[in-house]
Amino acid sequence: MDVETKEKASGNGSSDTKKLDALVIGAGVAGLYQLHLLRKQGLNVRAYDSASDVGGTWYWNRYPGARFDSEAYIYQYLFDEDLYKDWSWSERFPGQPEIERWMQYITDRLDLRKDIQFSTKITEAHYNEDTNRWTVKTDQGETIDTQYLITCCGMLSAPLDKIFPGQDSFKGEIFHTGHWPHEPVDFAGKRVGVIGIGATGIQVIQTIASEAEQLKVFVRTPQYVLPMLNPKYSADDVKAYKARFKEFQEVLPNTFTGFEYDFEVAWEDLTPEERRERLENIYADGSLKLWLASFSEIFFDEEISEEVSEFVREKMRERLKHDPRLCDLLIPKDYGFGTHRVPLEMDYLEAYLRPNVEAVGVRDNPIEAVVPEGLKMADGTVHELDMIIMATGFDAGTGALTRIDIRGREGRSLTEDWGNAIRTTMGLQVHGYPNMFTTAVPLAPSAALCNMTTCLQQQAEWINDCILYMRDQDRTVIEPTAEMEDAWVAHHNETADATLISKTTGWYLGSNVPGKPRCVLSYTGGVGTYRQKCDEVAAGGYQGFAMR
Ligand code: NAP
Repeated sequence: MDVETKEKASGNGSSDTKKLDALVIGAGVAGLYQLHLLRKQGLNVRAYDSASDVGGTWYWNRYPGARFDSEAYIYQYLFDEDLYKDWSWSERFPGQPEIERWMQYITDRLDLRKDIQFSTKITEAHYNEDTNRWTVKTDQGETIDTQYLITCCGMLSAPLDKIFPGQDSFKGEIFHTGHWPHEPVDFAGKRVGVIGIGATGIQVIQTIASEAEQLKVFVRTPQYVLPMLNPKYSADDVKAYKARFKEFQEVLPNTFTGFEYDFEVAWEDLTPEERRERLENIYADGSLKLWLASFSEIFFDEEISEEVSEFVREKMRERLKHDPRLCDLLIPKDYGFGTHRVPLEMDYLEAYLRPNVEAVGVRDNPIEAVVPEGLKMADGTVHELDMIIMATGFDAGTGALTRIDIRGREGRSLTEDWGNAIRTTMGLQVHGYPNMFTTAVPLAPSAALCNMTTCLQQQAEWINDCILYMRDQDRTVIEPTAEMEDAWVAHHNETADATLISKTTGWYLGSNVPGKPRCVLSYTGGVGTYRQKCDEVAAGGYQGFAMR
């Protein structure tokens, strides 16, 4: 294996080229672990991140109210018991500042900082067929020559922050939640507009409703929501969850979504009264259980989906005091519960009952432009604002990579390829891009439908094992065959098409980005099943992945 050397770059000879065995893009949940694993097996590896510190999602999304909605004790690395037990969470669903501190704790405990370069954006990565290596460039003017390129960019890290004409003309402050400033933002005495009511918008709205003088929420597609129960943890609570470490190691990787709970009861085995009782009990848990562990039939059967959706609508109507206008704007009618990402919230619906909060429907009267005074609607109405918060989401799964100039064999461009059709082999590699490994990209559960830490650890471990295997076998190049990729894409599509998710809209399908090919981003066969399939490929000597 290479040792870190500095060579004159071929070509102009004017800059130094760093030589690596592996380059990891990103220092979030996946990147940190990938760096740790590859370094442990003796590779000369370095991670790069455009942020000034670790954290990925939890570095950028520091907007008011940002917090977990996976229980903290499962949003964890599970490869080291001491690492797990030496950190104590303060509550069931902690907020961003605590999560960011935890990621710094992980970084320092594993001594990762010395191999991470911050404030550095990867701008291009070109595969060189003569050397079978990648030439990578950064916005700092550096060139890196690496055998392996491993993308750990996160599935939600390309913010949709420039979507309205006239954004630069706004006289007030304008923020996207995914690029929230480090400095405190003051809402007092201000007229604030929030665009978007996804999981992010909801957390912002419920948090700032009592701070802003006036809050206008621009609502397009209504969203099912579930109330979060977020108790503070006592020393005994912490001791109790830590005692379950081995159980989590066993259970999480094998459930449908990488959470501790799973679908256990079939709809048809219960009477209507028993179903209702089960829904009520699970609803009272204040977690994502109603979505991820009530009845799997909600993803496949329209009638059952409608019954459970109606259960959730009823709860929402009660909380909105049956206000007909609010119910019409905020409660979904034309898609099923769970086919969009379900957010957990705390007093979010109640925020709309406050006198300083107004829901503005934009379904039939869309936002046309940002003007100096605020937001201008299609009918010419201008909502005057001092601050605009864009909770408008992300180009999920693909955006982080298509914003880099990535070129594989024969100069093919990933931006162009994925612009035509989103294809990967198990979300781990892409045909035509040898020695590039991917995490949190489409066609794997880590693109959306999972507890991210469970899925990203599995992918990082698979990649690490694969590289270890190649070294043992004296192989230097790996690429999935066209047949393998075709087979995986076909299996993915067949699995996805059987679900009701494929029949809706939103970022799960890429329909939130104009021109993006429509595709269910996440593998919907389940986290446990996906893991088994990945393990089988590895056990069979990486069948379907050509090595030389
Ligand atoms: P999102 O779910 O894609 O929501 C974007 C929102 O912006 C939608 O309500 C969308 O409306 C609206 N929007 C976009 N363009 C608009 C326009 N031109 N006019 C009006 N409305 C517009 O994005 P997100 O809320 O940032 O959430 C993305 C994902 O991040 C979540 O699904 C979740 O996986 C993750 N997340 C997790 C947590 C956590 O607790 N762990 C917290 C926040 C986010 P339409 O639906 O009509 O397009």
